[in-house]
Amino acid sequence: MDAEVGMRVKAPFGRRKLIGFIISTGIDISELEYKIKEIERLIDKQPLYGQSEIALARWISEMYYCSLGEALSIMLPGGKRESRIPALEDFEIPPNKELILSDEQRAAIDGILAESHGTFYLYGITGSGKTEVFLQIARRIIDEGLGVIYLVPEISLTHQLTEDVRARFGSGVAVLHSGLTPSQKLVEWRRIRSGEAEFVIGARSAVFAPVRKLGLIIIDEEHEGAYKSGSKPRYNARQVAMYRAGVEKARLIMGSATPSMEAWHQVDTGRIKGFRLGKRLAGGAVPTVELIDMRKYKTCISKPLEEEIKKTYEEGRQTILFLNRRGFSYFFHCRSCGYESRCRNCSVSLTYHKQRNKLVCHYCGYSEQPRVVCPECGSLDVGYSGFGTEMIELELNTLFPKLRIERVDTDSVKEKGSLKDRLQRFKNGEIDILLGTQMVAKGLNFPGVKLVGIVLADTGLHLPDFRAYERTFNLIVQVSGRAGRYFPDGKVMIQTYKPENEAIRMAADGMLESFYRREIEIRQELGFPPFGRLFRLVFRGKNEERVIASAEDFAFRFDIDGLPEDSNTEVLGPAECPLSMISGNFRYQIIIRTDNFKPVHSLFKGALAQYNLPSGVYIEADVDPVSLL
Ligand code: ADP
Ligand code: ZN
Ligand code: ZN
Repeated sequence: MDAEVGMRVKAPFGRRKLIGFIISTGIDISELEYKIKEIERLIDKQPLYGQSEIALARWISEMYYCSLGEALSIMLPGGKRESRIPALEDFEIPPNKELILSDEQRAAIDGILAESHGTFYLYGITGSGKTEVFLQIARRIIDEGLGVIYLVPEISLTHQLTEDVRARFGSGVAVLHSGLTPSQKLVEWRRIRSGEAEFVIGARSAVFAPVRKLGLIIIDEEHEGAYKSGSKPRYNARQVAMYRAGVEKARLIMGSATPSMEAWHQVDTGRIKGFRLGKRLAGGAVPTVELIDMRKYKTCISKPLEEEIKKTYEEGRQTILFLNRRGFSYFFHCRSCGYESRCRNCSVSLTYHKQRNKLVCHYCGYSEQPRVVCPECGSLDVGYSGFGTEMIELELNTLFPKLRIERVDTDSVKEKGSLKDRLQRFKNGEIDILLGTQMVAKGLNFPGVKLVGIVLADTGLHLPDFRAYERTFNLIVQVSGRAGRYFPDGKVMIQTYKPENEAIRMAADGMLESFYRREIEIRQELGFPPFGRLFRLVFRGKNEERVIASAEDFAFRFDIDGLPEDSNTEVLGPAECPLSMISGNFRYQIIIRTDNFKPVHSLFKGALAQYNLPSGVYIEADVDPVSLL
């Protein structure tokens, strides 16, 4: 066969036929001590990848504890399927063709181009023109004959950016989005490998794009959790990008209005060169922000927010309301005995969806009819508490019968279809209030918007995760950034039951630096990232005793005594995961925290390789976990 490294093959494997990757050729078969089978057929006529991709796959498999095959299959088209979320198009004002760069933009572009490689950070408030900086640098890189990868957290949320990139870079652009079929993806892949496409734009897995002569990787919205893969291999595109940029001597530019603590710290300690953009350039200004203490109000929409929505409407402007919780209400519980409706497969409460008249689990999709009597004690005193977007919609309709209100969340997209159509109507001024979840939090730029209301800022604060404050802070700043983009009179109102909470207060005051200093001190004290590093091991299975026994056994055998003295390593757990059950699987975790990554990483590798899992118990190993739930 004309087999070459980089092609896929179909080969017999036991009784099955599997697809395999050729990673080397030319071994002398006669010297092997075992018999090998014939390959059935070659799948590709041209290699899909080369030695540098194999080297990258080896690094992935080492770093994130997976097999080489698993690494190659996430890197290549036709490998793992990516999940689809409904496409959300955004409608930005087209960029001004003859725009004059601001001094800050100029300084960032010159500063980054002055060095031939390295990592840079563009920290700029929302609407400060980071995209323009990215694209102008990309232009220069491409003119030098090198390739560019532009990563975004979610490609379907960045329609406008994609259009801009296409308009500027023409046929040399490849867009890798989750809507592509494997064969479409393969076509794009080939265009990139052949050098026909030199500008790749895409989500997380686009970091593997086989760009020839890579000159630049851009990571937009660097703080986003979406850059970390939630399934094996649990890679972080940020880490992979750093590795690739290092090996291929390319520049890496990350950017955000709310840098992650890890990135802040690296800029702060001089390991990454930072540039700042502090002004809005399209006629907007930083909005005024008001914090509303909800303990004074009984309704979901406070009096001041109600007044402001009214005022905004009377001025002929629009409002965006944000709430990070869909459905009608959060809990269904009994006031007599305290019974609470929970999913029978997952350890979470069921959310009431009024339109469907169902209690639904947001983790596994399980649903049941709401009850009239308590199933535990028979009491009729049952009811709902906590609110979701559906309840807010109802309250808004009662408060403002004349206003045109639209809800945008994954439920309303399923029910009513075309999100694009609704957003277009919002842009045209045919909708007065746009109410939604994360879908309205980022990327949307509507000139008519004056008011942004955060219905409840506290929703993520109580999660048992050391990044809960960081996430809450970032979300408030990002959502607030939807106001005042094109006019200097933007207003943000943040409702909270915890107005004294530091994350909320500092986000409202735009005190990014202070928040960072406060948070970094806590992290340092606890030895958490960016100081120490974490490994997480989740054991799951249907049989709780077996799960616990395996976790305990692993912890017992994980011998940290042999580590170097200065490694300051601790093994936490095993303990129940905060989400102690998902889809009927019990979950226990071990968290290892260390100041000395390397020896612990290899100790962990050895322990994983030696460990024999009992049947029915599964293990998830996560290096630098992003979620601890
Ligand atoms: P960011 O990515 O920092 O949130 P954007 O790149 O979306 O900001 O820019 C916000 C707006 O400012 C866009 O409409 C963009 O066209 C505009 N813009 C960018 N640079 C300039 C400039 N130098 N002069 C005028 N407008 C600009
Ligand atoms: Zn009861
Ligand atoms: Zn469930």
